[in-house]
Amino acid sequence: MDFVLIDGKQVAGSVRERLKEEIAELKSRGHVPGLAVVLVGDDPASQVYVGSKVKACAELGIYSQKWELPAETSQEELVKLIHQLNADDRIHGILVQSPPPRHIDEEAVILNIDPRKDVDGFHPVNVAKLVLEDAAGFVPCTPLGCMELLKAYGVETAGKHAVVIGRSMIVGKPMAHLLMAKNANATVTVAHSRTKNLPELCRSADIIVAAVGRPEMVTADYVKEGAVVLDVGINRIEDASRPRGYRIVGDVAFDAVKDKCSYITPVPGGVGPMTIAMLMANTVKACRQLVG
Ligand code: NDP
Repeated sequence: MDFVLIDGKQVAGSVRERLKEEIAELKSRGHVPGLAVVLVGDDPASQVYVGSKVKACAELGIYSQKWELPAETSQEELVKLIHQLNADDRIHGILVQSPPPRHIDEEAVILNIDPRKDVDGFHPVNVAKLVLEDAAGFVPCTPLGCMELLKAYGVETAGKHAVVIGRSMIVGKPMAHLLMAKNANATVTVAHSRTKNLPELCRSADIIVAAVGRPEMVTADYVKEGAVVLDVGINRIEDASRPRGYRIVGDVAFDAVKDKCSYITPVPGGVGPMTIAMLMANTVKACRQLVG
């Protein structure tokens, strides 16, 4: 079957264009959206993510603060900074890059972020708002990006069976809630490591969202003809033929699966580019809601 390749870079680009207009409107009223990104420790991957987020802000004219704290920063010091950022009128969005060092209790830190500035959507108030379908809440950026991709390609979700593989608070659970919400109306099954007969279950899906963290786990055997497949996975696998010695693959065996799909996201270039675009969108939304 001819499949449509979902182009995350292009959709992320149009989200950014939309945001530029919103930012210009806010600026015309004297408001500049602001994001604070806090990194504790010197994990190289986290440094790259934080750098990309700050760069994305600069490209859109969003004010940003990058806080790089030493690995030995105490929980109290981190919480003190969060409180300072909660009170800073220039800052509308706050995120603490995950994962923090082991001695930091991430959930306790998140509880200290003003829910109105919680642009990652991790605070329990925002989790509740997602479940309550309160549009004023903040939804984690990656599942929000997946919904944006479905919308951009006009994929019908109402009455469809969606199987979400993975139940993390960052991807799987919010994804399931977004798909079952009254503005999407899918019938959702959430699968996880204890799910039995996963290939069979997935074969009954019109839409599969793979958020597992297992390289190329979803093979042709999981996919029915005409299904829509969104691959959230980002996995590094050894590849001696590459100068870096590795390559990035998703949770879906793309080459084996693509010809059965109506729509499929590649990795990289599918869901990945949407995450930062939606972080920018959440920051602009936070600004709009805070300044009225
Ligand atoms: P987690 O490790 O938090 O969750 C993985 C989920 O997959 C768990 O619910 C786990 O089940 C389930 N799982 C593990 N093995 C199996 C299996 N064999 N069969 C079925 N389910 C299984 O990962 P995340 O949700 O944080 O991330 C998932 C993937 O998405 C990763 O590759 C990550 O790198 C990527 N990611 C990509 C982002 C992007 O911007 N594109 C952003 C965030 C994540 P159980 O609960 O039972 O343990």
